[in-house]
Amino acid sequence: MLKGSYYSPEVETLERSDLDALIDERVRYTVHYAAEHSPFYRNWFRENGINPDDIRDHEDLLHLPTISGKTIREHQPPITQEFEFLSTAWNDVFSIQETSGTSGTPKGFFLTWDDWKRYAEKYARSFVSQGFSNKDRIVVCASYGMNVGANTMTIAARNIGMGIIPIGKCTFESRILKSYKPTAIVGSVFKLLRLARRLAAEGLKISDTSIDKLVVGGESFAEESRIYLSELWGVPVYNTYGSTEGTMCGECTQISGLHVPEDLVHLDVYDPQVKSFVKDGECGRGILTTLLPVGGKCGMLLINYDTEDTTVVLSRERCGCGRTHMRIVNPQREAETVWLYGNPFSRSDIEAAVFQNQNMISLTGEYEAFLQDTDVPGETVLQVNLECFDPERCDRHGIEDQFVSRFLKFKPLIAEHYHDQSFHIKFKFTGPRGLDFYSLKGRPKRLVDHRER
Ligand SMILES: [Zn+2]
Repeated sequence: MLKGSYYSPEVETLERSDLDALIDERVRYTVHYAAEHSPFYRNWFRENGINPDDIRDHEDLLHLPTISGKTIREHQPPITQEFEFLSTAWNDVFSIQETSGTSGTPKGFFLTWDDWKRYAEKYARSFVSQGFSNKDRIVVCASYGMNVGANTMTIAARNIGMGIIPIGKCTFESRILKSYKPTAIVGSVFKLLRLARRLAAEGLKISDTSIDKLVVGGESFAEESRIYLSELWGVPVYNTYGSTEGTMCGECTQISGLHVPEDLVHLDVYDPQVKSFVKDGECGRGILTTLLPVGGKCGMLLINYDTEDTTVVLSRERCGCGRTHMRIVNPQREAETVWLYGNPFSRSDIEAAVFQNQNMISLTGEYEAFLQDTDVPGETVLQVNLECFDPERCDRHGIEDQFVSRFLKFKPLIAEHYHDQSFHIKFKFTGPRGLDFYSLKGRPKRLVDHRER
């Protein structure tokens, strides 16, 4: 991408000191707006003995408690009479959204049209940073529903002047690519892998399509699977991290972390006990705060909201693309992280081990893993099921060796237990659609911890 191609150049390239001053001004305004307009925050400040006037800058947010998805659920019907997070008059609510609700009642979110414009601004910046322009035509595989993702991308596309093909799922026919010649697809890594495979089975040469970039998001993934996807399609793959709560971070063409739109969403990274900030470069929990421009209104805002995702601030220096907004590591679901013998690992660690180069000659990339106790106290088994194009014709030993060496690479404590044989890794090779999760509903759970607590 040419340097100097931005959606909102002034704000995206602000010097750090000016950006921090803008953030502090918005923190003060947002805190006041919350105290005045949301019943939840009015009580929250009172109950915690906090005077909103005392919150002067972003570091002061450390003195406020954090809230979570649970807090939102506990302050909305049927638990309370009213939606206590609602921070505007019902007349001003343009749309009501919900999070996917994987754990209990979905959280209600209220957006004014101004909120939509700010959400779309974040995606538009991200798209432009990935080289999108009015010459692009993009297939949106993200679903159009109660979450904001696909709709936000659509408004962002309109603002950039690019074309939208709003399919809302990845299971589209190859004629879509042949007839409309889109230049990009937005979807999840695994859906785009499956799509490539299906198109290839239909005789379409993937590298001959009009697609020149892919945008992924929706779940975290290993760098190895991104590289594989990129090779399969022969195009760059850019990552995004978005949620109905209002995070919309995206990788630019430099692929060196996701830019956080810092003037619109403030992200702090806390230690695991959620007591203090961790240093840049250290892993911690992402805690976000909506930032409203002075004079702005919004349907619902979040202050110190625990995303339950872990991340790392990579840099607050100017990026190679010219943007100054900080860059973070692709966030991981904390719930998907398990601890074993003192080392943490996540689904992405399994995935990285699966997507080793030589493995991908015989593996489809689909996998599932289960962590189990054995009959011997202190012993643990990681059962890894791998889908092969043809289980009869795959180099099982080679794949197992590749997997084990990559999986143990950064986990010295787990490796020790592996070598003294109190930790075992067992493999099962299945044919196409032979994994357990195919018979279950919903998004596949690829790492399941079956150990007794
Ligand atoms: Zn950049």
